[in-house]
Amino acid sequence: MTDNTEICIVGAGLSGLALAAALQDDGRQVTVLEARNRPGGRVMTQDGYDLGPSWIWPQNRRMLLLLDQLGLRHFPQYATGRLVFEDAQGTIRRDLDFATMGGARRVVGGLSCVTDALAAQIGDSLRLSCALRGLQSGPEGVTLTTETGRVQAARVVLALPPRLVAELGVSVPDMPTWMAGHAKLVATYAAPFWRAQGLNGDAISHRAPLAEIHDASPEDGSAGALFGFAHPGAARDPQFRPKAVAQLARLFGSEAAAPKAVHVQDWSAETATATPADQIPPSGHPAYRAIRPTGRVIFAGTETAAEDGGFLEGALASAERAYDDLRAIAQ
Ligand SMILES: Cc1cc2nc3c(=O)[nH]c(=O)nc-3n(C[C@H](O)[C@H](O)[C@H](O)COP(=O)(O)OP(=O)(O)OC[C@H]3O[C@@H](n4cnc5c(N)ncnc54)[C@H](O)[C@@H]3O)c2cc1C
Repeated sequence: MTDNTEICIVGAGLSGLALAAALQDDGRQVTVLEARNRPGGRVMTQDGYDLGPSWIWPQNRRMLLLLDQLGLRHFPQYATGRLVFEDAQGTIRRDLDFATMGGARRVVGGLSCVTDALAAQIGDSLRLSCALRGLQSGPEGVTLTTETGRVQAARVVLALPPRLVAELGVSVPDMPTWMAGHAKLVATYAAPFWRAQGLNGDAISHRAPLAEIHDASPEDGSAGALFGFAHPGAARDPQFRPKAVAQLARLFGSEAAAPKAVHVQDWSAETATATPADQIPPSGHPAYRAIRPTGRVIFAGTETAAEDGGFLEGALASAERAYDDLRAIAQ
């Protein structure tokens, strides 16, 4: 059976959801296809802890406005105290008065509160576990073949990383998917015990498996959490969790050796985010740019944002540009 819709958005990450909500507000008929069984894409919060992005910055005006509109609160990343530094030989310093993410903000309850709220806004328009397999443009519109059937749409927005778009057979410039090669580990504790030692929870390590660690405790400090980014590929080691916990104990003391829970998300193993080319992260921040519409097909997603590309703010900027592209095509 083929369903008909005016605009089909592929991908229910922040960019696809924000665009869908804006179009629905205008009274447009929208269907959103999402491969995963949850909305949010790279935004993912588990038990209140962010396993994808954590931070927004004061200059992220679109994100701050969206939080305001959704009635969500944000608070500063904990930044009081000293950083821990471990060199390649294992020498540890705890005397560096520096916070690597001072000024960044976190969302109360985690960033999934944002994407869940947008998903709730668009309601039945969102189809989960419905991956796009291919698309064909014709005189009447675009036919999309999904895991579960077909959708016929007058316009299509591919709100996906360009490398996933290329896997669908659509020709687009190659742009690395931001953070797709990374893995994140969160260890939770009864309290943020490092704060009492004058440590801010930041650590930089030149030893495995975690490269960079930060405080991920809730706003009120009623529980403690540390999160770490793994060195590329390190999360695939079956011993990754115990090795990471041992490293946390090395850096923050013996209390860190017994977390209440450990959450791991290896983005490099997620086929709805990372391709084989993303397994080795780019050495710097790629020069992201817009992809021009091809016929009835429009491109969104943070990697297509000329400004703040790769970031949450870029995802919203790309949704705004796709909205304008849709209007231009309609004229
Ligand atoms: C570990 C990590 C840390 C990060 N930290 C930060 C941070 O602190 N601050 C910040 O600003 N940004 C950060 N980012 C980047 C941020 O997560 C992204 O910029 C943003 O989430 C991208 O949103 P998007 O909608 O463009 O893409 P995505 O979230 O990737 O959305 C694409 C969607 O398309 C779906 N999809 C894929 N293939 C198909 C298909 N064939 N059919 C249907 N659906 C499909 C996916 O499941 C996904 O839901 C981080 C990312 C990661 C992974």
